[in-house]
Amino acid sequence: MLHPLFTPEHEEFRVTVRAVVESEVAPHALDWEREAHFPDWVFKRLGDLGLLGLRYPAEYGGQGGDWGHAIVLAEEMARCGSAGVGMAVAVQSEMATPPILKFGTEEQKQRYLVPAIRGEKIACLGISEPDAGSDVAGISTTAKREGDGYRINGRKTFITNGARAHFCLLVTRTDRNAGYEGFSLFLVDTDLPGFSVSRELNKLGMRSSDTAELALDDVLVPSSALLGEDGRGFVEIMWELQGERLIGAAGSVAGAWLVFDRTLRYAKERTAFGSSIGTFQVNRHKFATMATELEAARQLLYDTALAWERGEYPVKEISMVKLYAGEVVNRVVNECLQLFGGYGYATETGIERAWRDSRLLRIGGGTDEIMREVISKAMGL
Ligand SMILES: Cc1cc2nc3c(=O)[nH]c(=O)nc-3n(C[C@H](O)[C@H](O)[C@H](O)COP(=O)(O)OP(=O)(O)OC[C@H]3O[C@@H](n4cnc5c(N)ncnc54)[C@H](O)[C@@H]3O)c2cc1C
Repeated sequence: MLHPLFTPEHEEFRVTVRAVVESEVAPHALDWEREAHFPDWVFKRLGDLGLLGLRYPAEYGGQGGDWGHAIVLAEEMARCGSAGVGMAVAVQSEMATPPILKFGTEEQKQRYLVPAIRGEKIACLGISEPDAGSDVAGISTTAKREGDGYRINGRKTFITNGARAHFCLLVTRTDRNAGYEGFSLFLVDTDLPGFSVSRELNKLGMRSSDTAELALDDVLVPSSALLGEDGRGFVEIMWELQGERLIGAAGSVAGAWLVFDRTLRYAKERTAFGSSIGTFQVNRHKFATMATELEAARQLLYDTALAWERGEYPVKEISMVKLYAGEVVNRVVNECLQLFGGYGYATETGIERAWRDSRLLRIGGGTDEIMREVISKAMGL
């Protein structure tokens, strides 16, 4: 039964994307995991195939699709065997660029959005700082008016695609005394004087994606680099985070389903004490619980994406999706590793990679605790 988020056309699209992922991306996944890097041609290739502009209008090179298409892509990318690739692609097309379409000028769309959709320019999103992650309003990167432009100073960290991006959607403070009205977004070319990658971070999972700390020292940008309205950056970046949370959850839930399916097959084949391990009641019940929770996470995700697609702004529900998906995915992948026994712990099955990758959903784009803050505030608490 198709969820109303999808039509038969989405399912045809799914078949096409799956073939691309399995034939062109998956064969390299193990190498990219080992090298902790995947090559830039992946962006170009996906751009050529139209996969980086699914929800963007045709006039900018996009496919004119919807959230159903974006979720299909995130789900199918989970099949490539390296979640870091899916995350980097999602940063490109569903995190760093939607604000350009929504808030950008025509010139900004031509200069950044069009080449990003083609995969010719790589984008990153700079919100988090060494001293402020969850507390976005606590950032200290400043953009001060100077002549016909702004002078930007600050540090950003944990920035996906940051080591290779051509431009960064940067969150700054333009007025320290204006509270939530004192933030502004900028589109900053990474080759500008004063912009540098101060270091790359090694990490537990999502290993094929690069994660950088960025330094901005007296970076001068013209006023045309301001994205959206001066002083509206906080509200604008909160809007961006909603899409980021949905798409992150979509990839992770799909990845957990894959691990679940593999583990189910394994539990039917692997024997101990004369029976397949899946027939032991304790394990049968584990599978029943895992499938129920994963399905609940998936349905909540689809329902919420549909509400967003229909024009609602379901902040509370998106936070619920991210919170619930993060917890379920981690529970499921952890149980699956247990069911695989020693083979789950060994790198050869790929289960330990999924276990490491899945941990991020409870942290990146807003932690479990911050999701609970948003949900409880929406209840008036
Ligand atoms: C692999 C990876 C990729 C990332 N990619 C990007 C990116 O591309 N761009 C970007 O800008 N950022 C990125 N991030 C950063 C990510 O969004 C932050 O790590 C996240 O928002 C948490 O911020 P923090 O790490 O500073 O933790 P902190 O904010 O320091 O939080 C530490 C702990 O305190 C808890 N805490 C904080 N406030 C509260 C509260 N009010 N109540 C209860 N508990 C609280 C948190 O939940 C957490 O458990 C990435 C992170 C990782 C690990």
